[in-house]
Amino acid sequence: MDYFEPKTLREAVSLLARYGEKAKVIAGGTDVLVDMKFKEEPLCLVNIKRIPGMSYIREEKGSLRIGALTPIREIETSPLVRQKLPLLWESAHQFASLQIRNTATIGGNVCRASPSGETLAPLLVLEASAIARFSKGEKKLPFTELFLGPGKTLLGAKGLLREIEVPLPSKESRGTYLKHAVRGAMDIAMVGVAVLVTPDGGGKKARDVRIGLGAVAPTPIRAKRAEKALRGKTMARALVEEAARIAASESSPISDQRSSAEYRRWIVETLTRRGLEQSWKAVTGKEVDG
Ligand SMILES: Cc1cc2nc3c(=O)[nH]c(=O)nc-3n(C[C@H](O)[C@H](O)[C@H](O)COP(=O)(O)OP(=O)(O)OC[C@H]3O[C@@H](n4cnc5c(N)ncnc54)[C@H](O)[C@@H]3O)c2cc1C
Repeated sequence: MDYFEPKTLREAVSLLARYGEKAKVIAGGTDVLVDMKFKEEPLCLVNIKRIPGMSYIREEKGSLRIGALTPIREIETSPLVRQKLPLLWESAHQFASLQIRNTATIGGNVCRASPSGETLAPLLVLEASAIARFSKGEKKLPFTELFLGPGKTLLGAKGLLREIEVPLPSKESRGTYLKHAVRGAMDIAMVGVAVLVTPDGGGKKARDVRIGLGAVAPTPIRAKRAEKALRGKTMARALVEEAARIAASESSPISDQRSSAEYRRWIVETLTRRGLEQSWKAVTGKEVDG
């Protein structure tokens, strides 16, 4: 196996261009090293951890910019993330154990493109974009288009994620990330639901609603029909319950050792309803109308 520790982004992407499918990027290694132990070793490993300046969280022009090498623990302990993107903070807080959070990077979580990746549904709902470097230049790839299937993104074999750009949501909005797992801690999500709600000025109707679902389709998805059912409407209990049922019908979960597809759908419905109720209460101070 060829092993490289590039010192610059340019060097890293030229290695990826040269080796193509034979190369594997490694950042924190919490996925890659497990794969190398239990699946197969790549022919070429490109360790990007020595590239300086890729771990940061900063606010700039109405967005938070997060470097791809930022550890999940940095996101969890960042006052800026907690204050400006509580939805993302929640997913970092519920992520694995302290040891894994210290090592795992947000870039690795995104590029792994696991349907159950903790930060993905929140980033999808926050309408984040991936800033990706290729040997021929940089591209901004919206999260709504980034994921192609389990383990597959628009980055392909030759792209390197440099940064995640997250537009700050409206100050009047509130979000929730709810995770259901077999075990309470140290387990990947059986279902993850991210909700972001923005009420209108009167605090009765939902001006905007976004719902992201994780672990219930080949990629993280937005529950577009459920969002549409609520947008511009009065947040009444019956409507919220109906939207939660629609969200469940938009999911296409599999049955595996963690759960049956049917049970996952039921959890989607429950968590979506709960997420909508909690977000609505957090932003308006009122319960969803009876
Ligand atoms: C015990 C344990 C518990 C876990 N619990 C959770 C959990 O609760 N929630 C969860 O979501 N995940 C969990 N994971 C999975 C893993 O920790 C995360 O996916 C993590 O974010 C991966 O980050 P990393 O830096 O370690 O990535 P790596 O393992 O280094 O890489 C992951 C993938 O991304 C690619 N990659 C990494 N960085 C880049 C980049 N900048 N550009 C292009 N490609 C890149 C790699 O080639 C690889 O395909 C767990 C893993 C373990 C071992």
